[in-house]
Amino acid sequence: MTEVEKVSNNPDVADGDGQPAITVESVYKIFGRRAARAVEALSDGQHRDTIKNLDVTAAVIDADFEVRPGEIFVVMGLSGSGKSTLIRMLNGLLEPTSGSVSVDGVVLNNLPAKQLRQLRRDKISMVFQHFALLPHRTVFDNVAFGLEVAGHPAAFRAEKATEAIEMVGLTGWEDKLPSQLSGGMRQRVGLARALAAGTDIMLMDEAFSALDPLIRREIQDQLLVLQKQLQKTIVFITHDLNEAMRLGDRIAVMRDGRIVQIGTAEEILTQPANDYVAEFIADVDRTRVLTAASVMDPPPTGSVDKSGVVVGEDTPVADLFGPVSESNLPLQVTNADGRLVGVIPRLTLLNALSQVNGEVSSDDDASSNEGEVATA
Ligand code: ADP
Ligand code: MG
Repeated sequence: MTEVEKVSNNPDVADGDGQPAITVESVYKIFGRRAARAVEALSDGQHRDTIKNLDVTAAVIDADFEVRPGEIFVVMGLSGSGKSTLIRMLNGLLEPTSGSVSVDGVVLNNLPAKQLRQLRRDKISMVFQHFALLPHRTVFDNVAFGLEVAGHPAAFRAEKATEAIEMVGLTGWEDKLPSQLSGGMRQRVGLARALAAGTDIMLMDEAFSALDPLIRREIQDQLLVLQKQLQKTIVFITHDLNEAMRLGDRIAVMRDGRIVQIGTAEEILTQPANDYVAEFIADVDRTRVLTAASVMDPPPTGSVDKSGVVVGEDTPVADLFGPVSESNLPLQVTNADGRLVGVIPRLTLLNALSQVNGEVSSDDDASSNEGEVATA
């Protein structure tokens, strides 16, 4: 039995019902004096280049989305697309030029400074790309730092810091200084500090982008394992598509200040909203993202032959080649309840693979082109 669990797609995330952890409504962030004019000019869908005469930078344009409790929501886009500006509005470090941001139903706009600080302390922690560790403090003190600032007593700090250090696998390193650690370990200290704060929401801005590829994969895996257990609400920013696909329950693709598509990795791969997204995803290894469920044939009617190798419906296509070679019978695809939901004959898998690695054309209908802008 080759049941491969796909950790990144969290089935427990509440779908639609219940209050979102974060709500972003028609949010703009324009830098420059004539910001209000710019919002007006951009509100009908124009590209930010068309308002160059206003001498403003339109960093975030008309962002609309909700982050559900317990999901990893990835914001992906090239450098300059507005990701950091967007994430800084989620914890009130930046105020939107227009539109509103709410956290657990509390609107951040115009929140008194004291309440905003309190909300940041109690609900939201942040992990940065360059770790932001204090160089003269030990691992332990760095992890406990936020709790100290928040005024928690020493015993409580020690308990939470020890717990968080253990979660990220740094037990035994408590007394080291950041300079004595590798990059990957430093980022685990950054992660532990955020975990020690005990907030439900974690904002991670390119948190793993400075790490070497192998270390980076390791820490991605570690985050996914931790997330299974902790069920935090995570907004994770990256310019790396593969990272986005590995981590994101849902992914928002940003381009030039606008969010051009929001969807699961699979939705973005199979139904890119426009040519830009299609091009962006052209190099992704689809076999790691698409699942058995997305390539299977309907189960045969009548008698059910259970002798083929059984795979879970969430098994990535890449992990089907082993099982399919074990037997001449079609793979039997089952759902979480163990019910047969489809079959994959070897030929179907090969056909799917050729499509999967072939060209993806974006939908032609007009609605899917929303957010699409002409390139010069
Ligand atoms: P990303 O994180 O995707 O690289 P940013 O949000 O940092 O993008 O930046 C988006 C745009 O806003 C860029 O053109 C950047 O130069 C501009 N920008 C960001 N912060 C400021 C600021 N404080 N003042 C003026 N322009 C800014
Ligand atoms: Mg950035």
